[in-house]
Amino acid sequence: MKKISADYIYPGNTPPIKNGVVVYDANGKIIDILNPIETEINWHEVVKYEGIICPGFINTHCHLELSYLKGKIAEQTKLHGFVKDIISLRENFSDEERFNAITLAEQEMIENGIVAVGDISNGSSTFKHKEKSLLSYHTFIEVFGSDPKIAQDAFNHSQAVYNSYFDHKRASITPHATYSVSDNLVQLINVHAIDNNSLISIHNQETASENAFFKEGNGAMFDFLNIAEKTNNQFIPTGKNALSSFLGKYKELNNTLLVHNTFTEKEDIEWAHKYADNIFWCFCPNANQYIEGQQPDYSIFKKERCTIGTDSLASNWSLSILDELKTISKNDPTISLTTLIKWATYNGAQFLGFEKLGSIEKGKSPGLNLIENVDLDNFLLNQKSCVTAL
Ligand SMILES: [Zn+2]
Repeated sequence: MKKISADYIYPGNTPPIKNGVVVYDANGKIIDILNPIETEINWHEVVKYEGIICPGFINTHCHLELSYLKGKIAEQTKLHGFVKDIISLRENFSDEERFNAITLAEQEMIENGIVAVGDISNGSSTFKHKEKSLLSYHTFIEVFGSDPKIAQDAFNHSQAVYNSYFDHKRASITPHATYSVSDNLVQLINVHAIDNNSLISIHNQETASENAFFKEGNGAMFDFLNIAEKTNNQFIPTGKNALSSFLGKYKELNNTLLVHNTFTEKEDIEWAHKYADNIFWCFCPNANQYIEGQQPDYSIFKKERCTIGTDSLASNWSLSILDELKTISKNDPTISLTTLIKWATYNGAQFLGFEKLGSIEKGKSPGLNLIENVDLDNFLLNQKSCVTAL
């Protein structure tokens, strides 16, 4: 049995405890969490750290299979440029290069205190790693196709990938993004999702042209995907933003994660609340910086169930949830440290349904992270803040 303490314990779902003590067994199971105001502590038995201790991080959005593209794609290309670059580069790498990049990326996540991942997969290249991994995974088999004529083929391909996964309870077939899935494909995904009570993860409002796509039927993404031609000029603009135009087509959704939300407005959040009560939001701040050079308006999400993702190494410099939190803190210092930790731990575990993870509570085994170099006068992260998995 071990007893550890720090300046503050952040349990993930409850307020921080000053000089709190975490008691856990050899398997990492939490035996107790003690507050020195309420319980007398024998400090000789306790290892004391400087900084804060929080649960292991939950990375709700990654594309592990794209790890081989680290440093290969130019920054600030905007989303349609980024997608174009991936398409032109992806055939240039051997299976061995891809395998090695996945191994290194997983190692990086573990060192950065990540314990679980919501990972997007288009193919099966990561499945062997995941089956043996120290990390807990939920794999979202992603399908896309804006041409209605290819809907069945696209779905069949994703279903074959899904069928080859080793644990169907931890896999879903999920749409890529609001703009890249035809109505025919939506119907096929929806039937599968209802039958399997699937978690859903969708890229949402990552670029400004995504709203123009639905509102006006034009813009960079509309043109890039040749939507006019694919739909025989039958595309009917909705006059509304991407989120409400798209998600309303789904019926009986289970927990649904909206990823990025860079161009999401207050009205979109209000719409989401009216539409369903199982919506979660995911921010990938450094990927937004890398691709679009723009950040979401975090202030409108303070009361929402937000989570944090790293996105892939194709559009990020690291796979570190703490690095993402630092970027949020720098852009909006009014988001409290308690809120940031909840986004990075508890909310992600709730979305993914990992009941033993996400909070320091009796009986759970959340993994424990020490964050050092935190400004504890103002409860702010800074550029020197760093994480160690204990
Ligand atoms: Zn993504």
